[in-house]
Parts: sequence; structure tokens; C-alpha cells
Amino acid sequence: MASSTTPSDDAEETIAESSEPESALETARRQLEYAAEYVDIDPSIVERLRHPKKVHEVTVPIERDDGSVEVFTGYRAQHDSVRGPYKGGLRYHPDVTRDECVGLGMWMTWKCAVMDLPFGGAKGGIAVDPKALSDDEKERLTRRFAQEMRPAIGPTLDIPAPDMGTDPQTMAWLMDAYSMQEGETIPGVVTGKPPIVGGSEGRDEAPGRSVAIIAREVIDYYDKDIKETSVAVQGYGSVGANAARLLDDWGANVVAVSDVNGGVYDTNGLDTRSIPSHHEEHEGVLRHDAPETVTNDELLELDVDVLIPAAIGNVLTESNADDIQADIIVEGANGPTTIAADAIFAERDIPVIPDIIANAGGVTVSYFEWLQDINRRSWSLERVNEELETEMVEAWNTIRETFESRDVTWREATYIVALTRIAAAHEARGLWP
Ligand code: NAD
Repeated sequence: MASSTTPSDDAEETIAESSEPESALETARRQLEYAAEYVDIDPSIVERLRHPKKVHEVTVPIERDDGSVEVFTGYRAQHDSVRGPYKGGLRYHPDVTRDECVGLGMWMTWKCAVMDLPFGGAKGGIAVDPKALSDDEKERLTRRFAQEMRPAIGPTLDIPAPDMGTDPQTMAWLMDAYSMQEGETIPGVVTGKPPIVGGSEGRDEAPGRSVAIIAREVIDYYDKDIKETSVAVQGYGSVGANAARLLDDWGANVVAVSDVNGGVYDTNGLDTRSIPSHHEEHEGVLRHDAPETVTNDELLELDVDVLIPAAIGNVLTESNADDIQADIIVEGANGPTTIAADAIFAERDIPVIPDIIANAGGVTVSYFEWLQDINRRSWSLERVNEELETEMVEAWNTIRETFESRDVTWREATYIVALTRIAAAHEARGLWP
């Protein structure tokens, strides 16, 4: 596996050299140390941030539909709560491990801090293949996990959200199980719920919306007119399709989009709303009429103004970084750029706007959902989108100021903003006892 710039997997020692895989935790630690070089921070705080505050490991037995009993292992890694309750996804995937949860939880700490949300970072999961479970089995698994995790989670303690292999229904079960045990309805214990039980309008579209907002800001920063900007988007799911359609609405020329099977390409611009997203029609992109089709590798190398990798990690690597012709890259997916590719882009002066700001709309609207839940008052879609716009532009402006005042890349500027806030909160609170 190639090394990536976010702790979804990756590399080691020197940024460009190693091709050895690195765990999520190693990546998260390396990013911390790297950012710490740019921030005036007490080394003891860096040492503290290298470790999670707590990792919960639980045994989750469930009765299968055939009457047999199977036992799974679940984790919740709580990295840092200096800025507020822990926040992060809960994934169901066979490869879930303790260390992966710790690494991804650290990454959530940086993401929440970049957005200035009053949350720290966590990640959890169950090592299970959700496709091998019936809906009833998934429900029993989720309810039992909620019971085992009950002392560790809560609206002021740790607030899970959907992630790989989990969805709004999973969050509704988790919320219900927790609420039943507490004896009262507590919607704020999770986010990403269906709106009927306290979920927020606009949550599903939010990561794609934030990618589009950040792309719009960076286009403007580099003095391009959005109406004369060509865009290629890899991945036409929740993130990719929502980002592509918004940019299209704002006048950008979306020339190429793809799904796992390949992409469609039209230099005159595609009608993004008539191309079915992953959720509207699975792998339907190539069924759309277009003058040309491209492979996913070709899409990445198109001569466009803006490239948005919004499918999977590690697609921009040492092998294709020199052939990328885009002027600007905005990371929609988590960890699409490997460490080696990042170094090549820096050398080639191609700005790469990192995932932890670009797709942070998801956790930001999760924060809005939490606010709505604890205030027992729901917001309109218009309000959610307006507030998301404000939060994204504010975060972007702070990163831009750091980028302009220091000789750093956009990724470095983003991590500096995050770490500075976390370090300041640790300084102010001190070490107890
Ligand atoms: P999704 O499942 O909705 O869509 C994924 C899209 O990528 C589909 O069109 C699929 O066909 C395509 N795809 C899958 N494998 C591919 C491959 N090998 N090459 C090219 N295309 C491929 O997923 P999503 O929710 O849009 O997530 C996409 C990325 O964004 C992931 O990295 C995810 O972690 C990240 N992300 C998602 C959210 C969210 O809340 N949805 C939030 C932040 C980050």
C-alpha cells in the first residue's frame, strides 16, 4: 500500500522516500511531529498528543439468525478532549483494529480543531463484515455495542457518527439503545441520524458542499473566474456528486466525472444533474451519454484547472504525480494524495488543499445536529447551508492567513492552525493533577 498524507494508511521516516506501509497511528503521529516543528508548543504537549486518552475495547456477542452465537470485538479510541467532547465515526469493517481507531481518532482531533468546533477526536469500530450480517443481526450488534459502550459515550462525553459500513439507521439504533438504558430520549448521543429522530437536514450533502465551497474559494484565491474554470471529479458518490453539482450550479465547467468503472468527459461541460450519483443509480456514470469516456487514471491526468479526487485514498502517487496537469487539487476523499506525491506537487508548485479542511462539512453539520439536539430545535435546510458556508469560509480565511504569512504548503498551514488551537487549549488548562 502506498503512503498517504492522512492517517488512513501509509509511509514513514522521510516524507518522500519510504514506500513501506505505515499504520494510521504512525501517520497521525508523524503528522503531529511535523506540524509541531512549525508551532511554538511545549514538547510535553506533543508527547501527550502522541497518545490517546483512552481506548475502550469490548466484546460484542450476538445471536445470529440461525440461533448460533458469534462474538465480535469493538473499539472506541478517544484521543483528545481538551476542546470538548470526543467526536468521530463508528465503522463496521473486517479490518478495524485498535491502532487504526487511535490513528483515525487523532485525525478527528485535527479536523475538529481546524474547523474550530468544540470537539476533540475519537474513532470507533467493530471488526465485522457488515455485508455478511442481516439487518436484524446488525441491529442486535449495534444495540449490544451501545450497551457495552454506554459509560464511555454520551452527548457531553463522546458522540459517534456514521462511517464505513454504518449509516443513519445504525445511528438511530445506537441512539435508541442508549436512550432506553438512560431512561430518556437523548438524541445528542450520536449524529448522522435520520431527521425524524433528531438528525439534521443537509448532513448527507455537507461533505460535498464543503468541498465545493473550498474549491470556489481557492479558485478565487488564484485569480481564476469560476465560470471559466474546468473541473474533473473522481468518484460520483456522496462527496463527488454533491461537489460537482454545486460547482456546476455556480458556473464551473465540470468536464469529467467518474465512478469505479470509469468516467465521462466533455470539454464543453457535463450536465451533472442528469448523471446519476452512486446513491441514485449504482455505477451509473458510464450509462450517461458523453462525447468521450476516460479511465480513472486518465481522468486524474486531464488538463483541467481543478482536480477533485473524491473516491478513495492513495490515487495520487509517486507514479502519476509528475503527469498530473491540474493547476489546483482539492482533496474530497480522505487521504487521496500519498506523501511522495505531496512532495512532488509541492516541488511543482501545485496547490493541494487537504481533506481535513475540504471535506470537513460532514463533521461541521454533525456539530449543527448536536446543537439542534441539545436545544431541541431543528434548523431549516437553508439555515444549515448558510451556517456551513460561514464556518467553511471562516476556516478557509484562517488557513489562508497562515499560508500567506509562513513559507508553507496548504497542508502544512492547515495542520499549523489545528495544532496551534489544540496546544493553546492544553496550555490554558494545564496538566492535572
Ligand atoms: P460513496 O460510496 O458515496 O461514493 C464513492 C464513489 O467513488 C462511487 O461513485 C464509486 O463508484 C467511486 N469509486 C469507488 N472506488 C473507486 C475507485 N477505485 N476508483 C474510482 N472511483 C471509485 O462514498 P463517499 O461518501 O462519497 O466517500 C468518498 C470519499 O470521501 C471517501 O474517501 C470517504 O472516506 C470520504 N469522506 C466521506 C464523507 C461522507 O460523509 N460521505 C465525509 C468525509 C470524507
